[in-house]
Amino acid sequence: MERLSESEKLHTNVETGLTTEEAQKRLKENGPNQFDEHQKDSILVLLWRQMNSMLIYILIAAAMISLFVGEMADAIIILAVIILNAVIGVIQEAKAEKALEELKKMSTPKAVVKRDGVIQEISSEEVVVGDVVILDAGRFVPADIQLVETANLKVEESSLTGESVAVDKDATWESLNKDVPLGDQKNMAFMSTLATYGRGIGIVVRIGMDTEIGKIAKMLANKEKEMTPLQKKLDEVGKVLGIGALAISAALFLIGFLQGREILDMFLIAVSLAVAAIPEGLPAIVTIVLALGVQRMIQQNAVIRKLPAVETLGAVSVICSDKTGTLTQNKMTVTNVYTNDTYHDIKDISLQNPTVERMMRAITLCNDATVEADKQTGDPTEIALIEVAEKLGMNKDETDLDYPRMDELAFDSERKMMSTVHQEQDMKTVYVKGAIECLLPKITEIEVEGIRRLITDKDQEKIEKQVDEMSEKALRVLGVAYKPSLKEMDKATYEKDLVFLGLTGMIDPPREEVKPSIEECHDAGIRVVMITGDHQKTALAIAKELHIAEHEDQTMTGVELNELSDTKLVEKVDSIRVFARVSPEHKVRIVQALKNRGNIVSMTGDGVNDAPSLKEADVGVAMGITGTDVAKGAADVVLTDDNFSTITHAVEKGRNIYKNIKKSILFLLSCNLGELAALFIGILLGWPAPLTAVHILWVNLITDTMPAIALGVDPDDPDVMKEKPRPATEKIFSKRNISFSIGNGLLIGVLTLFAFMEGLKIYTGSSTMLTMDLKHVSDEALIHAQTMAFMTLSISQLFHSFNLRSERKSIFQVGIFKNRLLVFALLFGILIQMAVVYTPLFNTWFHVVPLSWEDWLFILGLSILPIVFNEVVKGIRRVFD
Ligand code: ATP
Repeated sequence: MERLSESEKLHTNVETGLTTEEAQKRLKENGPNQFDEHQKDSILVLLWRQMNSMLIYILIAAAMISLFVGEMADAIIILAVIILNAVIGVIQEAKAEKALEELKKMSTPKAVVKRDGVIQEISSEEVVVGDVVILDAGRFVPADIQLVETANLKVEESSLTGESVAVDKDATWESLNKDVPLGDQKNMAFMSTLATYGRGIGIVVRIGMDTEIGKIAKMLANKEKEMTPLQKKLDEVGKVLGIGALAISAALFLIGFLQGREILDMFLIAVSLAVAAIPEGLPAIVTIVLALGVQRMIQQNAVIRKLPAVETLGAVSVICSDKTGTLTQNKMTVTNVYTNDTYHDIKDISLQNPTVERMMRAITLCNDATVEADKQTGDPTEIALIEVAEKLGMNKDETDLDYPRMDELAFDSERKMMSTVHQEQDMKTVYVKGAIECLLPKITEIEVEGIRRLITDKDQEKIEKQVDEMSEKALRVLGVAYKPSLKEMDKATYEKDLVFLGLTGMIDPPREEVKPSIEECHDAGIRVVMITGDHQKTALAIAKELHIAEHEDQTMTGVELNELSDTKLVEKVDSIRVFARVSPEHKVRIVQALKNRGNIVSMTGDGVNDAPSLKEADVGVAMGITGTDVAKGAADVVLTDDNFSTITHAVEKGRNIYKNIKKSILFLLSCNLGELAALFIGILLGWPAPLTAVHILWVNLITDTMPAIALGVDPDDPDVMKEKPRPATEKIFSKRNISFSIGNGLLIGVLTLFAFMEGLKIYTGSSTMLTMDLKHVSDEALIHAQTMAFMTLSISQLFHSFNLRSERKSIFQVGIFKNRLLVFALLFGILIQMAVVYTPLFNTWFHVVPLSWEDWLFILGLSILPIVFNEVVKGIRRVFD
């Protein structure tokens, strides 16, 4: 590829980047850096999608047949129900879609650019051609970039080339051949690929659809929607119920036919029964409840990237959390220093001392953070180091200029060290900082008061003792060393034969809000496990403060972990509360061991190497602020505030969402069973049909829907975090839930039949139900009785919805008016039923007649019975369970 002088061609300056003004102009001209959104579906297409189902076809056929035989009213009602149902479906889908779009926006990666000479983080969509982009390990490449500077930069390009091994990038690479394959273009970094190591600077040459990945973006556009385990289960159950419903309907039709009933009536009843029994509304309601729940979670700083995580969150039994920044504030301050064989308070040292001066130079130079008056970027540990040196009078920018960086070995959490090589007069010096266990084996000399000498065992012991003492005070300890007069620029020699300079100790206080959250987890039967790269004693000191662990037996280090076999680890894992000095690869083993013990595990992570453990965990949680794009990409949940307490809130929300979905499902199931029971029993006993087809359709598709949605957004149960986690094996269609639905379904069915018989008794003038002549019922009496059955069915279901608000607590305990939407659904439901009964036009359409106040009293009396029945059952359960 031709080597371009990009900065000239694109009118940009590599040193300062574009001006904000110019960037905005280009953004306006060329549009945002994103792939073209695929066209939104029109409302007609959306409506069609709702109608395009077997169920609706059957209904349309039923409407046509009704029309054909002159039953105009039935046809109209059936069509109205179809249309209303489709409209509700479209609204629900639009809501869910909107929530998902919001989510997409939240997870757009950020890009680091230089504009007006200042390094800043912007949304990758705002990146324009000519922007100077800075890449570091863990970042997505935001556009196609021509690299102008690289330091050991490696990029993983599997999204583009399919090759998952990271390739080395080199800004100085040139080729005159124009047809070099993408994977070999070493001076280019392509959009959507991933920097996994080192650093680089480049200039954006192409954005959005013009990029290499943009060219194949069309293939990525139609990503399939993910279903949650519950949705999948519902799908399966729905199919089984559907087949069952069709079989029952066919049987009913046959029985009716054999009994000599009117064929058209029986056909319509059978069709509406099938419609009633198939829980077609369930998946839509589950989606909407999940989507609304996810929106509420965003307000609490948890962005759900994968919908199934919402359900799993509610079942989490172990939360594994990083220490730094999640449990602690990540506001580091160096308070103490050990140097020249002595432990000092920071205010007692000065740059006048040659070893102190060299140590400060080391931590200033071996450092990638920047600290300006009001802006800091980079790792808080490094920011703290710059700040302490500045306090003593050493400026980072000046020191960087005096001792230019020639090479580096970047920090990674595997090595737990970082080294940089600098030109010092006519020599080269290596400065090193890192975890003391990793540093000490590489040290051969020690500098005291400016004089170097060989390190003795006594020195080593003294240093180790000092580290222990500092760690026990919860200080984060970092060792500092250097290597004078480096002979050759060979990476393998940088970290050999080092000279020890000292230790820095920094505080990082626990977050205030974390302690109560951990208590809450304990109450909720959730174990909290700290996983950290930090020293065992520092970790334990903080774990004690937060009540995560009490004694050393509950801790395990990475070294100890290495010595354990997987089976041994599984045996021990449940007793460990703190894993210290672990590397990301250990996290995978820890998650696997915990899962092996039957735990549902949530794991946090931020680095590139955390991706495997985040994927392995049941719920992978990435840090939104400090996390790399790689970690975010692998996670199910992203915390926008990096805060442990947010995980607890998300678990609480997850539990409530699951409960609410369960309420909607069980409500709809019991109602459908009620309709089925009433009709089936009635027909089987040879009675006139207690309900007409339109009654069933109306109740099933209209009056039931509102309470089901209202239950889905039931206010959070304040006691949800006092319960133990839901077992991983718990099924929504458990024995208890099935018997609940059947019991209540039967009750509602029998009450409906009872109202029907009472109606017949009154309007045929019989003295008892048993002496009625059911073969010769007048039309007038039948319509009256059916009206009573219709009202009892719908109103008892409306009342029944209140039973679902709690499995154990009385409706008075949970508060009748707490769920306003449910109260509204009840009142609205009763109101439309009254409208149906008292409007002459509806009277003809629905085959109903106005009722007397005695009838209403009877209906209300019956309709309230499901509440009485459930209150008794709950009372018994509270006593005996
Ligand atoms: P956590 O895993 O809870 O986030 P951590 O920040 O200590 O804790 P790592 O970032 O993996 O975890 O760091 C591990 C160790 O490496 C630290 O305890 C410290 O001793 C050392 N270390 C951290 N940052 C740097 C750095 N920038 N340069 C050199 N060494 C570092």
